[in-house]
Amino acid sequence: MNDFLALARAHETELFDLIEKLVLIETPTSDKAANDRISTLVADLVRSQGAEVTIHPEQKYGDHVSATWAGGESSSDKRHAFIVGHLDTVWPTGTLARMGYRERDGRMYGPGVLDMKAGIATTIVGLRLLQSNGLWPDRQIKVLFNTDEEVGSPSSRPLVESLATGAAYALIMEPGQAGAGALKTQRKGLGEFRISVEGKASHAGAFPERGASAIHELSQKVIDLQAMNDWPNGITVNTGLISGGTARNTIPAYAEATIDVRVRTVAQAQQLEAQIRSLRAGIEGTSLKIEGGFHRPPMPRTPELAKLAATLIEWSHEIGFELTEESTGGGSDANLTAAMGVPSADGLGSKGQNPHAEGENIEIGEQANRLALFMKAINSL
Ligand SMILES: [Zn+2]
Repeated sequence: MNDFLALARAHETELFDLIEKLVLIETPTSDKAANDRISTLVADLVRSQGAEVTIHPEQKYGDHVSATWAGGESSSDKRHAFIVGHLDTVWPTGTLARMGYRERDGRMYGPGVLDMKAGIATTIVGLRLLQSNGLWPDRQIKVLFNTDEEVGSPSSRPLVESLATGAAYALIMEPGQAGAGALKTQRKGLGEFRISVEGKASHAGAFPERGASAIHELSQKVIDLQAMNDWPNGITVNTGLISGGTARNTIPAYAEATIDVRVRTVAQAQQLEAQIRSLRAGIEGTSLKIEGGFHRPPMPRTPELAKLAATLIEWSHEIGFELTEESTGGGSDANLTAAMGVPSADGLGSKGQNPHAEGENIEIGEQANRLALFMKAINSL
C-alpha cells in the first residue's frame, strides 16, 4: 500500500507545479475566454497521456473537456470509472493580484486552489503515474472537466449524466469538507426560485388608491417563504436578493426576489416546490410569476455510497492518514451522479480551509496522501 504513498511523495514537485499552473489561470465561471484557456491546457495534457479527448464547445461558458482511456485486455466486461472535476472558480479575475499563490505555514494559498484546482492536478498527475508504473486498472476510465459547476452545471449536466451512465463508480475530486477534509457522503438538494411581482404605478401622495404596490405584495410572500424553513429537518429557504421600485414617491409597479432552497430528501424537494408554486398574489391589482426549480437533486447516504466511502476510509488508514465522512448543505456534481444510482465519492481532492472565502488554502503535507488514495482507488476499486 505504501508503494502508492512513496510514488505520490516522489512526484510532489510535479503535482504542485501543475497546481500552480492551474491557479495562475484565473477562471471565474463568467469568463469564457479564461475557461477556454484552461480547458485547452488540460485537454493537451490528457491527450499527451494517451486519452481520447473531446472538446465540447460552449457558447456561454468555457468549453468542457472529456477524456477516455481504454482499459486492459480483460476490461471489456467491466463497467467504467468516471471522474469529474470543475475548472471554474467563484473568484473574479484580478483576485490573484491581492491573494497571490503563495506558501505559508505548511499551506498553499490562492484563489481556487482548494476548490478545486488541487483536485484537478491530482487527477491528471495520478492517472499519469498509474500509467507509467504499470498500475492501470482493467477498466475504461472517463474523465470530465467542466467549466460551469459553480453556477450549478447548467450546460454540463447532460455531459455529467451521459458519462456517468453505466459507471461502476464516480469520483468527484472536489475538496474534502473544510476542516477535517472529510468525504461528503450526504449532500442536500439545491434549488433556486425567482418571484417577480407586477403591480401598478401611481403617485404615492396624490393618487395612492390608483396604485397596487408590487413591493407590498412581495414582502408578504417573503414572510410566507420564511415560514417554510424547517431547519431541524434540513429544509432551508432564504430570500437572498430583493429589488424593486423606481422612486421614493411612486407606488412600485415591479419587484422581484431570488430564493435559495435546500432539502435533504426527494420528498422534501417535491413538497417544497409545490408549496412555493402555490403562492398567489393577495393584493388586488398585483400578479405573481414564479420561475426556477431544483437543479441539484439530494444525494442521500445510500448503502452503496456508504460502502464506497468505508473502503476509501479503510485505505486511507493503510496509507497512513485519517479520512472521515460528513454531510454537507452544499451541492456538487456528485448530486447528479448519485441521483443516477452510481456510487459516488465526493471530497477526495484536497484538504484545506476557506473554500469560496478569503484565505482559501490547502494543506501541503496532505496532498501526497490524497494523490496516493486517488491512485489506490483507480487501481483497486
Ligand atoms: Zn467545487
